[in-house]
Amino acid sequence: MSEQLRFDGQVVVVTGAGGGLGKAYCIFFASRGASVVVNDLGGSFKGEGASSKAADVVVNEIKAAGGKAVANYDSVENGDRIIDTAIKAFGRIDILINNAGILRDVSFKNMKDEDWDLIFKVHVKGSYKCARAAWPYFRKQKYGRVINTASAAGLFGNFGQANYSAAKLAMVGFTETLAKEGIKYNIISNVIAPIAASRMTETVMPPDLLALMKPEWVVPLVAVLTHKSNTSETGSIFEVGGGHIAKLRWERSSGQLLKCDDTYTPGAVLKKWDDVSNFSKPEHPTGVADFVGLLEQSQKLPANEK
Ligand code: NAD
Repeated sequence: MSEQLRFDGQVVVVTGAGGGLGKAYCIFFASRGASVVVNDLGGSFKGEGASSKAADVVVNEIKAAGGKAVANYDSVENGDRIIDTAIKAFGRIDILINNAGILRDVSFKNMKDEDWDLIFKVHVKGSYKCARAAWPYFRKQKYGRVINTASAAGLFGNFGQANYSAAKLAMVGFTETLAKEGIKYNIISNVIAPIAASRMTETVMPPDLLALMKPEWVVPLVAVLTHKSNTSETGSIFEVGGGHIAKLRWERSSGQLLKCDDTYTPGAVLKKWDDVSNFSKPEHPTGVADFVGLLEQSQKLPANEK
């Protein structure tokens, strides 16, 4: 049997850890030797109210099992205070799990600015603030592991979730850039689109389906990605839940290069539409640079068919 993945001596910050997925991460990391900061604002799933109870319950459970944990009740918008809690209590931070989240579901027709802004404040600004505050520690110690939390709604869109979808896809671009900037310092960043039974999903999914989706079943992937043995899987996107783990990547059609002169008309584009959207020879881009090289080649082409 392979050795158990352990996190002894490491410090893990989990945001939104008073229940659901966040709680499952905390219980796991503490059981594998890590010291854990259990952050939770303790409000409703719509982002209303606040309470210290949610985080305290998880801290007490960890302590009762002989683990090490402290609570933090700040909103993730004040990520620097959450990271400060880790430094003050345990002297370091090794792993950041950006997990806190809320929903403000409403059809786009009825969406108000406050529905949009609150979702962005918690998911996007909150993840940014926590990662930004942890970053100098990660760089200095040449070690850091980040998990950001997206959603299938962000990857594919979902009715009533224009705000949430936009914020969750932002987690993908954010992670891809952190991965590129961090790799030199052994800072590994990945993003997951989880699916799990929690107060967020219990009202929209039937009980028999929820029973197949325990939050605990998202944890093993997060453990693998944040363990010190992972030094190369970074900037990746995963869907995970109910025991299924799959990696996603960008796919681009091989496309059609058109000559950039006065023959480059809408009609010329239409003529080539099948080639533009033909995925029979797909490419899987991982950076911005490769597209730019195509532009020079365009000048060498014959005039476009109109
Ligand atoms: P959850 O409601 O049980 O957990 C979210 C936690 O975040 C709550 O405990 C809440 O109090 C906390 N929180 C909310 N706003 C906060 C803030 N400003 N600062 C600190 N804490 C705050 O839901 P969950 O399903 O465990 O969700 C965890 C994450 O996974 C979320 O980011 C969610 O969007 C994402 N997600 C979940 C699913 C799923 O199927 N459960 C699917 C896709 C994405």
